Amino acid sequence: MSDKLALITGGSRGIGKAIALELASCGYDIAITYAGNTQAANETLENIKAYKVNAKAYKFDVSNQKEVEENIAKIIEENQRIDILVNNAGITRDDLFIRMDETKWNDVINTNLNSIFYVSKPVVKLMMKQRAGSIVNITSVVGLYGNAGQANYSTAKAGLVGFTKSLAKELGSRNIRVNAVAPGFIATDMTKDLTNTEEMAKLISLKRLGQPEDIARAVKALAVDLTYVTGQVLEVDGGMMI
Ligand code: NAP
Repeated sequence: MSDKLALITGGSRGIGKAIALELASCGYDIAITYAGNTQAANETLENIKAYKVNAKAYKFDVSNQKEVEENIAKIIEENQRIDILVNNAGITRDDLFIRMDETKWNDVINTNLNSIFYVSKPVVKLMMKQRAGSIVNITSVVGLYGNAGQANYSTAKAGLVGFTKSLAKELGSRNIRVNAVAPGFIATDMTKDLTNTEEMAKLISLKRLGQPEDIARAVKALAVDLTYVTGQVLEVDGGMMI
């Protein structure tokens, strides 16, 4: 049990799970959120137990404002504080723009970008009262450089970059830091159906896909260690974009 809490959206699988474990290993109590896969969330809670911290999972859709407000209020009521927020939950619905329908556009914008407004608002209010806090937003290299077939996703992820820098300027005087991590190509369920992974690895300087733990270490550094860094976007892509 700890007096520090880290909240990780989409913390049940993939990158979010690795972040939850990394922050648990630093002694943070953990609140993870997820959309529907309760089995994965329970497995993650089981894994976190090894670090002897409290951990709880909350099931809600981050793109649904009402569900978010109710659940974040519950998390705050149960824990009284949130020291670290990692806005990580996200989806892809790829298609060439000319074929992309409104549903694919809206699903990605709502889940990856509008959710950030819903989740961060009550958490920032709390952090302002605490006069302390650290927020890390998980964007993507695609939000910085674009990608064919991902106009919806790269738009949402680019939005997170602007959000990160604006909030860093607004909240610095309250001792709240806001940064972003931009992962490259990471081996998770999100990328498991891609067929050309060997070819893609050849284009990466480190000649391998990233692992969720590679991202988790970067998030931990920004959230915990780098106490004079705010408004920054750290690319963690094995040198893919240099
Ligand atoms: P993942 O393995 O597909 O996991 C996604 C997580 O988000 C799961 O916990 C999922 O919950 C949750 N989630 C999805 N939609 C949600 C919703 N509407 N409401 C609440 N929770 C929701 O994804 P990942 O690869 O770890 O990606 C994590 C983040 O990194 C995303 O923001 C992604 O865009 C970003 N990213 C990933 C890569 C990559 O190569 N993998 C690269 C750059 C950036 P359930 O388990 O219940 O579905």
